[in-house]
Amino acid sequence: MAAGAERIDFVFKVVLIGDAAVGKSQILARFARNEFTIDSKATIGVEFQTRTVVIDHKSVKAQIWDTAGQERYRAVTSAYYRGAVGAMLVYDITKRQSFDHIARWLEELRGHADKNIVIMLVGNKSDLEEQRAVPVEDAKEFAQREGLFFLETSALQATNVETAFLTVLTEIFNIVS
Ligand code: GDP
Ligand code: MG
Repeated sequence: MAAGAERIDFVFKVVLIGDAAVGKSQILARFARNEFTIDSKATIGVEFQTRTVVIDHKSVKAQIWDTAGQERYRAVTSAYYRGAVGAMLVYDITKRQSFDHIARWLEELRGHADKNIVIMLVGNKSDLEEQRAVPVEDAKEFAQREGLFFLETSALQATNVETAFLTVLTEIFNIVS
């Protein structure tokens, strides 16, 4: 192995989906670079970022894809979903509509992705508790019914972002290893 080259045992593609402005890009920035930007611009161009983590003494490279401002219904192309083994289905706890749209994002995801894909429902912006429009119970119930993992996160405060990704990556790891 060349000096400095890292040994990678697994590469897992994970896609972020959900309405515009729910915080997908900031969740990714938090996980990949431990950064957060208050006035983040809408994402332009297909983008992914990677971060390598160690699970059970193996190095796992997470390749996390972020939508390219294609958050309108059916605008995300099948290439985006191709090969994905994990998905983060993100809504904003202060925007009821972003939660109501989760069912159709899930339908679209299931229409395109592998049937064994590991899915985490993510209620982001948990730091804005005083503006909450989606009760935790509603999301829990939906996740349970659909067989999804569920967590509330704050990309701003770095709450649960790490746990959300590590849960999905570990579950994928347990399936493929
Ligand atoms: P995307 O369109 O889903 O990629 O959303 P962005 O990541 O661009 O975020 C949209 C807006 O929400 C930006 O102004 C972010 O600063 C803000 N935002 C993202 N995550 C959080 C969070 O956890 N808490 C708060 N208060 N704002 C957030
Ligand atoms: Mg974005």
